[in-house]
Amino acid sequence: MDLLYPPRCPLCDKILDWKDRTTTQKIRIPGMPRGCCTDCRTSLPRVKEPACMKCGKPLENEGQEYCGECMTQRHFFDRGVAAFRYTNALRHSVYRMKTENRRDYIPFYAAEMARALERKLPQWRPEVILPAPMHSRKRRQRGYNQSELLAREIGRLTGIPVETGLLRVTRIIRSQKELGRRERLQNLRGSVAAREPFPRYSSVLLVDDVYTTGSTLDEISRVLRTQGVRSVYFVVLCTGKGKKDGMHREKSVVYSV
Ligand SMILES: [Zn+2]
Ligand SMILES: [Zn+2]
Repeated sequence: MDLLYPPRCPLCDKILDWKDRTTTQKIRIPGMPRGCCTDCRTSLPRVKEPACMKCGKPLENEGQEYCGECMTQRHFFDRGVAAFRYTNALRHSVYRMKTENRRDYIPFYAAEMARALERKLPQWRPEVILPAPMHSRKRRQRGYNQSELLAREIGRLTGIPVETGLLRVTRIIRSQKELGRRERLQNLRGSVAAREPFPRYSSVLLVDDVYTTGSTLDEISRVLRTQGVRSVYFVVLCTGKGKKDGMHREKSVVYSV
């Protein structure tokens, strides 16, 4: 299979050298990751400290604890962490992963997300991992839910059980690109439903691919709280720049999927 479809770097899509290749079975969390090319490995846009204590977005200065958004707005989740910044390379990569069936990126990305979680898990101690749900029609068209695949792999790496099918998207959400945070929340209200009866969980870890304003994770968290979940944490593959944290907003939002 490797000869027909040689493994490619998730970030730049170049064919990987043999030494950079990996399989789901062989991937290791600590140390240098395999699964991306040597060039990209040295410049991985990992989120480093200081990062927002609430949403995990990178912060500009050490003295800050929260990003501009989290200082002024309330979230329904407790805390979250992101593996990467949402750079152009990631934007293109996530697009390929979602729409071009590039499920081969999953092991590498899940390992990076597990890496970002490493120091948080002893404090958070989630009982279960839940992937962000996708509307059934969308899922049928695509054939898979990338958040679910990431969640399963993170579960395998961390030993935390993964449950799918507890959450459901009730209607297709129109593009949120042009909407502000409040409008996004309004737009999403009631778009996620929990399976009833819902199992008793007090601490849950959500898995999603991209964090922009956090409105999707907020809506899921709100629903989980109505089901008695006390602590809601999340891990995302990448996080976008906030509007109010003093950084300019990237104008070229190339894709919305
Ligand atoms: Zn690369
Ligand atoms: Zn924040």
